[in-house]
Amino acid sequence: MEVARHWRETPERYRMEGVKCSKCGKVLFPARIICPDCKSREFTKYKLSGKGKLFTHTIIRTAPEGFSDLAPYAVGIVELDDGTKILAQITDCNPEELKTGDKLIAKFRRMNEDGKTGMIMYAYKFVPDVGI
Ligand SMILES: [Zn+2]
Repeated sequence: MEVARHWRETPERYRMEGVKCSKCGKVLFPARIICPDCKSREFTKYKLSGKGKLFTHTIIRTAPEGFSDLAPYAVGIVELDDGTKILAQITDCNPEELKTGDKLIAKFRRMNEDGKTGMIMYAYKFVPDVGI
């Protein structure tokens, strides 16, 4: 990811903060200027629950530069309890054993290290929700 874009979006990504449309109640993550459903421009901040279930996933075996030490790893779409779907890495599990509908919970984890700048990036990842 481009570094400037990463940092611009970082506060929302770190807190998993989206917005809720004041008119129709749709939750958007990341936040947008206009609601795609009702075209409203009025939103309130909305903290995503961070809990959900696996909607679909794939296993990355040939990872891009900077992620090769992680492979194989799972990337999936997680359907959160509030109806939002987000794309994230799924970790702390055997990727081969993941299945649709598995309960997951968001955790804040190290993403990778930028080889050029030495900057370490963090983001949320999802891990199996074992109820701890
Ligand atoms: Zn709306």
